[in-house]
Amino acid sequence: MSDNEIIKVFDCPHCSARCQFNLAVEELECQTNGSYQTSWICQNCSGIIVIRRLYQYTWDHSIDIFPRTKIKPKIRIDKLPENIKKDYLESLRDYGNGCYVSSVIMCRRAIQQTCLDKGAKKIKLFDQIEELNIDKNLKKLAHKLRFWGNKGAHPDILLGEKIEEKDAKIAIDFTEKFLQYVYVIPKEIEEIEGEAVKVKS
Ligand SMILES: [Zn+2]
Repeated sequence: MSDNEIIKVFDCPHCSARCQFNLAVEELECQTNGSYQTSWICQNCSGIIVIRRLYQYTWDHSIDIFPRTKIKPKIRIDKLPENIKKDYLESLRDYGNGCYVSSVIMCRRAIQQTCLDKGAKKIKLFDQIEELNIDKNLKKLAHKLRFWGNKGAHPDILLGEKIEEKDAKIAIDFTEKFLQYVYVIPKEIEEIEGEAVKVKS
């Protein structure tokens, strides 16, 4: 795609659609950090974005789009214990701010808080997950999150491996699945059963 084209396709942080954008302001070089910046208008929602790139003529994944995408909770947070809800929401906020390492660490923390909430007594997260009385596939999920979280929490053991946006996104997806099974679904079943008892009596 040549730089002269004034229509490009991006993921819109406002309407979440992958759609066409029209160039609004021609490229300017930032005098503070030497990056190149352009402004675009979403053809779907008319939202304005600013794209910052370090090198001219490069439109790959290295570009930065502002505002950054905010992600909303995909599960019923009212069914989560307060401290776990807080960690989960913080991981979403970190992700939205582009702090992917912190986001993954908060996912790991949410898993550890869950283990403690469910009565885990051991010290290490590995053992705490093993202690949990949950389905073995869920345990696998929790161990994956533990592993990713370790990358962020203990960078000395995995020097050089970076946590990128896609890693944080996967960690959040997995955390949501985990919390959905451990808290949300059982609470919802309880509620349905409660309703059924009311109808009977
Ligand atoms: Zn839009």
